Amino acid sequence: MRIRSLVPVVVAGLLVLLLLSCGNPVSEPAGIPTPSDLIIQLHSDSVVYTSWTQCSDNDFDAYILWRSQSAGIEADPSQAEAIKIFTGDPLQNTWFDSDVTAGETYWYALETRNTSLLSAWSNELSLTIPLNEPDNLTVFFIDPSHGSLSGDAMLIRTPNGFNYLIDGGDRRSDWSCGRDRIIPMLDSLGITHLDGIVGTHPHSDHIGGLIAVLEDIPVDRVWDCGWTGDGSATYEDFLNEIQASGAEYIEGNRGMTLDWDPDLEVNILHPQPNPGSGSMNNASILVHITFEDVSFLFTGDLESDGGEDDVLSYYQPEDLRADILKVGHHGSGDATSNLWLDAVQPSYAAIEVGSGNPYGHPHSELLYRLDERGIPVYRTDQDGTFVITTDGTDITVF
Ligand SMILES: [Zn+2]
Repeated sequence: MRIRSLVPVVVAGLLVLLLLSCGNPVSEPAGIPTPSDLIIQLHSDSVVYTSWTQCSDNDFDAYILWRSQSAGIEADPSQAEAIKIFTGDPLQNTWFDSDVTAGETYWYALETRNTSLLSAWSNELSLTIPLNEPDNLTVFFIDPSHGSLSGDAMLIRTPNGFNYLIDGGDRRSDWSCGRDRIIPMLDSLGITHLDGIVGTHPHSDHIGGLIAVLEDIPVDRVWDCGWTGDGSATYEDFLNEIQASGAEYIEGNRGMTLDWDPDLEVNILHPQPNPGSGSMNNASILVHITFEDVSFLFTGDLESDGGEDDVLSYYQPEDLRADILKVGHHGSGDATSNLWLDAVQPSYAAIEVGSGNPYGHPHSELLYRLDERGIPVYRTDQDGTFVITTDGTDITVF
């Protein structure tokens, strides 16, 4: 408004003011733009979905999405490529990058520029494009991060093409991991129905996002821990949505064998029937999957006290062995004890955790326990969504 009032008076002055502070109140010097938070996801076997938080600065000018095949774009943009430039509309905050090659790793960063041509940079993220292996067992460890939200969300594609989710991340009034992250991923993979879902336990960061999944696509079966203690509004919504969706409700208990795929052996190791007292985390459904020589163990939020120790007292260590351990409770120090690691003996640790979680997950003592054993760690808060795939012999992490 003040710029307009100056126009008839000092034209030359306007040009100077425009250069210095276009869009800002003219009395204030132009500042650095507010940087965006960048998120990248594998959208399909050969497409990367990028999105970022919107810039609300009134002197916004452009988003420039940079991609490189090495880290450090902000430090040296000359080694990167500006793959997309959006000018003038801060609401344009998504882009599908299909110009990628299987097996290659790409780094992404977003530059936000204002009308004074000043720039700010987002976080930098990397992603490796998986090789398309249709006969593999493939697990997508989906990044549950959104603001302070965390959670678990894993998509399992079996060797014969069946698709299962274990947990679905969290939800809040304006965002759902299910609706905003999982469903777009399923769409891109051509998955129009799920053979089953496991909701490990009633906490919102595990089942919150599953509600939108059940609303959006057909699901054959849902395994729930059958919690009998005090629940929550989200758990009520989850149970109601299972019923409304027409999916078969199954209480998943210790000793059950699941017929997920003729090439897989899938067992539930925990909980015992009718959990309802003690920690809700310790009601988590534990799923152990074996494909030929390779095993995965999915642990929900199982804690050491009252959870892992109960499993250890019931099973022999060889029943728990797994090459890939989905670390319990987002890398909390109260889970994944040394005794647990002695039994499981994982070659890889996968941590599902939100980058902005307020709990300090993963905890340093847990990371130390893994490091002490030389176990490579993959974590969604740092790596974004990552993929582990196996042909039953070899394991590849993307
Ligand atoms: Zn949790």
